[in-house]
Amino acid sequence: MTQPSIGLIGLGVMGANLALNIAEKGFDIGVANRTAETTRRFHAGAGELARRITPCASIPELVAALTPPRTIIIMVKAGAPVDAQIAELRPHLSPGDAIVDAGNANFHDTLRRDASFQGSGLNFIGMGVSGGEEGARHGPSIMAGGPEDAYARIARVLEAISATYQGAPCCAWVGPDGAGHFVKMIHNGIEYADMQMIAEVYGLLRDGVGMAASEIADVFAAWNTGPLNSYLIEITAGVLAVGDEKSGKPLVDVIQDRAGQKGTGRWSVMEAQSLGVPATTIEAAVAARALSSLRDERARAAAVYGAQQPPRLELDRSVLIGRLEAGLYAGKIAAYAQGFAVLEAASAEHQWNLPLATIARIWRAGCIIRSQFLDRIAAAFEATGGKGNLLLAPDFVAEMTNAHPALRSIVALAAATASPAPALSSALAYFDAYRQARGTANLIQAQRDFFGAHGFERIGEVGDHHGPWGAAS
Ligand code: NDP
Repeated sequence: MTQPSIGLIGLGVMGANLALNIAEKGFDIGVANRTAETTRRFHAGAGELARRITPCASIPELVAALTPPRTIIIMVKAGAPVDAQIAELRPHLSPGDAIVDAGNANFHDTLRRDASFQGSGLNFIGMGVSGGEEGARHGPSIMAGGPEDAYARIARVLEAISATYQGAPCCAWVGPDGAGHFVKMIHNGIEYADMQMIAEVYGLLRDGVGMAASEIADVFAAWNTGPLNSYLIEITAGVLAVGDEKSGKPLVDVIQDRAGQKGTGRWSVMEAQSLGVPATTIEAAVAARALSSLRDERARAAAVYGAQQPPRLELDRSVLIGRLEAGLYAGKIAAYAQGFAVLEAASAEHQWNLPLATIARIWRAGCIIRSQFLDRIAAAFEATGGKGNLLLAPDFVAEMTNAHPALRSIVALAAATASPAPALSSALAYFDAYRQARGTANLIQAQRDFFGAHGFERIGEVGDHHGPWGAAS
């Protein structure tokens, strides 16, 4: 084993698997963890990959074990622990070394950390990694931000450990400073929307049609062979088919209906709002998780308002399933259009020049939202030069034209059967509002002028106008 130039701090779920992945691809690596016993156990359990791994009991020991220029990946809990690790590392590093924060940092923290490295001779890379434990071990999707030349020096390693889609690595430098973590955050926001829309369709099949989990599993498995083909649809089919030994019921039926969240979904909504970009389906998905957590309150409200109305399904099952498939696909187009619109706006705001087609390409494999659909998005952005809303890309105009009637139909069905579908409904409302040449904000402008003299534009005229509202009050 040669003296490694790559190090990794944080041997939790992600860090341990990433380190094994790096070693397996033939790179020597030094590792350290706050709790040194974890490092010892990790090395002892690394099997034949242990020969490529140098376990270090402390950060100074790790830095000393690496050949300059060093690249040290930090994979610890996001927030203060990252700052603490950086503070501990910095005094030991030499010019040319790079620190890579590979956790789910808030991109504002990445901007701050990047600024603190300016002029230091050290490099800071904020890198989004998606794919969970399995991805980290066998090929994640990697979204790197920071100095491009620093990325270029480690690109060989990152591309080797990342997932591939038809031979192309799902790893790219997406822009300077906070760009990588911003892109990862929006990936997670889209993931929230995808998962929520799938859950809403599941709700219609379970409560509206009365299907058992195993039957719904078959529906998702069949959908996974069509346009919805994706990791999330595949695992949905998988989890719905798993039984619970203890109760003899499908496992999904004994899981509490309270969804957790760690922050990236919420951040993506906050950023969309602060950029003034409508991302209503992502917002609905984040809010739905918050509503799900009100378990006891919901139970009280259910008792107050009584059982939901019985389903009024006038369609036969196969027609309904076909509409759910097409409607879910239409909802997905709207949600992705929103996510990419947030990326485009952030790119302009921060002068990142985000490569939207490349981002779609590196999401095709390795990450949680991986799908063939992203290959179509990449092609659409290549055709449009990576500019403009996906709903206006010619390929998606054709797809949405075909699919939106089904979305309308299932949203109407959800409303009629009191089956909550906030994400699908907001996707439909977003689409309808987006393609409405004459909306209703004229009335809002009149109201604003009435109570606050905010003024309005008159059609076909320039300048600020006010109404003679005194007569109406
Ligand atoms: P784990 O909880 O499995 O591991 C956390 C790691 O952080 C441990 O090595 C822990 O060390 C270390 N740590 C915690 N607090 C401190 C501290 N104050 N100082 C130093 N080290 C500390 O987390 P994950 O591996 O799941 O996540 C790591 C990062 O990756 C997070 O930012 C997470 O959001 C992100 N991520 C996670 C994904 C997942 O699917 N799990 C997917 C993509 C990104 P110790 O052993 O001493 O406790």
